Amino acid sequence: MKIAVCIKQVPDTTDVKIDPKTNTLIREGVTSICNPFDEYAIEEALLLREKHGGEVHVITMGPPQAIEVLKNALAVGADRVYLVSDKAFAGSDTLATAYALSKTIQKIGEVDLVICGKQAIDGDTAQVGPGVATRLGIPQLTYVSKIREINLEKKKIIVERLLEHGREVVESSLPALLTVVKDINEPRLPSLLGIKKAAKAQIPTLTAKDIGADENRIGLKGSPTWVVKVFSPEARGGSGEMLKGELTEIVPLLVNKLMDTKFIK
Ligand SMILES: Cc1cc2nc3c(=O)[nH]c(=O)nc-3n(C[C@H](O)[C@H](O)[C@H](O)COP(=O)(O)OP(=O)(O)OC[C@H]3O[C@@H](n4cnc5c(N)ncnc54)[C@H](O)[C@@H]3O)c2cc1C
Repeated sequence: MKIAVCIKQVPDTTDVKIDPKTNTLIREGVTSICNPFDEYAIEEALLLREKHGGEVHVITMGPPQAIEVLKNALAVGADRVYLVSDKAFAGSDTLATAYALSKTIQKIGEVDLVICGKQAIDGDTAQVGPGVATRLGIPQLTYVSKIREINLEKKKIIVERLLEHGREVVESSLPALLTVVKDINEPRLPSLLGIKKAAKAQIPTLTAKDIGADENRIGLKGSPTWVVKVFSPEARGGSGEMLKGELTEIVPLLVNKLMDTKFIK
């Protein structure tokens, strides 16, 4: 089974600060990590390889320092990793990113499954996974919390999707693209041997030309999204009232107050 996993390097913080002048993320002084959801994607690919055999190919598109997340992927057991990096990709929005990743997956070739995280914790759009599936012309199964069954002979997969009000069981043909949530598994830690092997590894870099990307569909030229304004909303002020006394007194008082404010009927 040949599996491609897309991972993104993100700032190690959920408290992302925005430069008010340029409307871009302030990355200085912030260490970078693998997007947490993508660690579940790698783990699921490794578990599938252990069960069905095959290869796990991990891809990241980013600046040269994104190599670090690929080294981690190698350390936990990925077979091949690829850094997709080129000045021509600068300014790519989710559309251009999804296009470049889909071209890379086509270059890897004959992939049975593509696995992405459900979203990146910095950009947060959750658009890239579905965008890649669309460009590859394969089904997309988003918010997957469990793979129930894979039948490689019949080219079929059955998964559980985590929805707001429950779980949905979906069957799809293969190849397909999954985006995964954190309930799906528990990512493993790299072994000492894995870390040593990864430290010595030469990571191949693929340029726009290498993946056969149309220059009009990458970078700023291929990005129709315009960020007009980015800002952190002011924290909303709140007020509260502490009810004191015996429970038997407080509960009816609380119920009356909630009914008065029409919070309950
Ligand atoms: C106009 C514009 C210009 C931009 N310019 C730049 C820029 O110059 N440099 C820059 O770094 N960002 C830039 N960005 C941000 C960049 O487009 C997004 O970070 C990127 O497309 C991913 O979107 P997201 O973070 O919302 O990922 P999501 O869609 O939330 O990610 C979902 C999943 O897709 C996969 N994924 C996402 N991104 C990658 C990736 N790069 N490599 C591999 N897998 C991935 C992962 O599996 C991830 O879990 C720009 C955005 C806009 C709108």
